[in-house]
Amino acid sequence: MPAIEGQRWSCHSCGNCCRTLVGHLTYAERLRLDEQKWSEKLGVSAYVRSGRGWALNKHSDGACVFLDPQNRCRIHSEYGEAAKPLACRIFPFSVRPTQHGWQASLRFDCPSVTSSKGEPIAQHRRWLGQLVAELDERGEARNEAILFQRGIVAADEEVEALMARLVKWVDDPKRALSERLAGAARLTATLDKAKLRNIRGSRFIELLDLLMASLPAECRLAAPAPSPRQRAMLRQYAFAHAEHVSLADLQSLRARWSNRWRQLHSARVFLRGEGQAPALPGFEGVPSFEAIENVMPAPENAQAIDDLLRRYLVARLEGRSVFGGGFYGWPVFRGLAACWLSVAAAGWLARYAAAASGRSVLNFEDIACALGVVDRAATRLPALGTLAERTRVGYLLEDDGVARLISACPFTVRHDHQ
Ligand code: SF4
Repeated sequence: MPAIEGQRWSCHSCGNCCRTLVGHLTYAERLRLDEQKWSEKLGVSAYVRSGRGWALNKHSDGACVFLDPQNRCRIHSEYGEAAKPLACRIFPFSVRPTQHGWQASLRFDCPSVTSSKGEPIAQHRRWLGQLVAELDERGEARNEAILFQRGIVAADEEVEALMARLVKWVDDPKRALSERLAGAARLTATLDKAKLRNIRGSRFIELLDLLMASLPAECRLAAPAPSPRQRAMLRQYAFAHAEHVSLADLQSLRARWSNRWRQLHSARVFLRGEGQAPALPGFEGVPSFEAIENVMPAPENAQAIDDLLRRYLVARLEGRSVFGGGFYGWPVFRGLAACWLSVAAAGWLARYAAAASGRSVLNFEDIACALGVVDRAATRLPALGTLAERTRVGYLLEDDGVARLISACPFTVRHDHQ
């Protein structure tokens, strides 16, 4: 389980996940739905083709066909929690097999997670363990090699040392969020460029400690404003997170092509960043780029936003959903850079949310909504794992780009935590 100080969660039956997620099914789960005669009871197919697999069917508004008007699951009501597909039962956790067992992470596309409502997450350890045991029976555990850089496999103790130090750094409430993020981004950029082939084991850990010791001074160096090209890349990165392919899009070739055409057009508009911004799924209203850029932070929300982003980052790092099998097989430093950039993308999307609602000041819900979009699909949206995205992240690691974009984020307003 990820150790996230102050993080709580219980399901409050908002039905959000049943409307936004695609519930993939195993063969055994399809058989069970057939045996329970759901297609006859519902009057529509209980499941449909999704790519090469199968998924729970949805109504045209995106709601799962099993969701009842009280936001309850019909399978759960009739046959109990254990009868639901594993994908539904495990949400908002995601799990990943490692050579030491299963590693859980927490997703921030659930409103009860972003607002930290319910029981302390450690209390869910037992039932999550039971679900994971089912995955063990399916034989899904595996080993994986994690790369630092191309051709350099990271040793376990090196990865553990790096992650322990990063978690401590981003989890430190005495330092402003902007400093923690910019510091982490600069450390990542330095390690990405370092020639690590001969700096391994205890020498790597020594190097890490030296770099960590210099981080506070590094953070006092103000990052210059991002260049127009870096800003354009952030807009495109935010757009890549916000793009949503619905189940209907996956099912029809025509819908897939028209979706693809719309995406290409929107990507060009995001690159230019002028005039009216394209509509994004999950947001109400369509603002202009100018209105988005003019949205200001509200200092009175800073503490709550800081806490939300701290929990999100610790969940990503603790759950290892930042590199390797947890993030498209990316090498460690590129994956970490993508993680820091996802916060900058959430900042941009939060501005979009505020401007789309006609406000010029950010509130907590804007960030929570943006983080829900960024963390949708547990950061495994296929478009984000492509070579194009990896190249974009690599480019932004140059010239202090990640730190510059983070420092220009609306929520990295300086405030005193002492
Ligand atoms: S989004 Fe979260 S709170 Fe809402 S129904 Fe799903 S698990 Fe429950």
